[in-house]
Amino acid sequence: MITANRYFREVFGHKMYKASISLDVTCPNRDGNKGTGGCIFCSEGGSGEFSASGSSVLEQIQKAVSQVRAKAGDNAGYIAYFQSFTNTYCLPGYLEKALSEASSVEGIEALSIATRPDCLGPEILEVLSCQAKKMPLFVELGLQTASDETAEFINRCYKTSEYVEAVKALKEIGANVITHIIFGLPGETRGMMMDTVKLAVDSGSDGYKFTCLYVLENTPLEKLYRDNKVEILGMEEYFDIVEEALGLLPENAVVHRFTGDGPKKILIAPEWTKNKRLVVNYINRRFGL
Ligand code: SF4
Repeated sequence: MITANRYFREVFGHKMYKASISLDVTCPNRDGNKGTGGCIFCSEGGSGEFSASGSSVLEQIQKAVSQVRAKAGDNAGYIAYFQSFTNTYCLPGYLEKALSEASSVEGIEALSIATRPDCLGPEILEVLSCQAKKMPLFVELGLQTASDETAEFINRCYKTSEYVEAVKALKEIGANVITHIIFGLPGETRGMMMDTVKLAVDSGSDGYKFTCLYVLENTPLEKLYRDNKVEILGMEEYFDIVEEALGLLPENAVVHRFTGDGPKKILIAPEWTKNKRLVVNYINRRFGL
């Protein structure tokens, strides 16, 4: 396993920062196409509460890069990060224009797109394929669990087999696939969590983003949590699971995230994720980073 920082330094020769952009997209799991209400843990912002706002992709990315550059200095590169909702749930022409605008901004050296495995039709794959030939392309897939039963409970609204097919198709066009996995989903045993990691590894995922299940305001998960129907992992317990998961990854797997931290303004639990410095120090100490 290698950390994202080390991987980016090896590939790009310097530190890489993310510049987040919001596209005018929603999610098929919210607009009724696949489901309504979204995944039970997902907030109204579609997991993109940290994105910059602006009227066009070009404006957003320029603003985001200049803000980060003010802190990072000149010896750094930037990844245009399409984070909110399902960024391939749109017309291929719209995506093509957005990617090409983002990649034209000075300092942008890679693109990263968060999406769902069931939103990668042939025309969208063609757009991504063209882009992957010009610049490194990361595609983040929200798997969360390999269990179709849990997936149904969390209202993911796609089958795990669709994830497996999507990874294959993305690898064929030269994309680098990052898989999102949540530990602590309702009803999941440790064995089930490890099965999710194994499935992602066997599918050929290049990178991983792990997070503990966290509860945000105004989500279906909030109600379950308030009704005591969901248990949230403690810090030690969560990182014990992460440690076991790391043991299942191949040597060249890149870990982009050891845990997530929900937007503080709407984060209800777990409390421990609110103290970011404490969590980062703990991760560095425990995993020798
Ligand atoms: S697929 Fe992603 S954006 Fe859509 S509801 Fe689920 S977590 Fe939210």
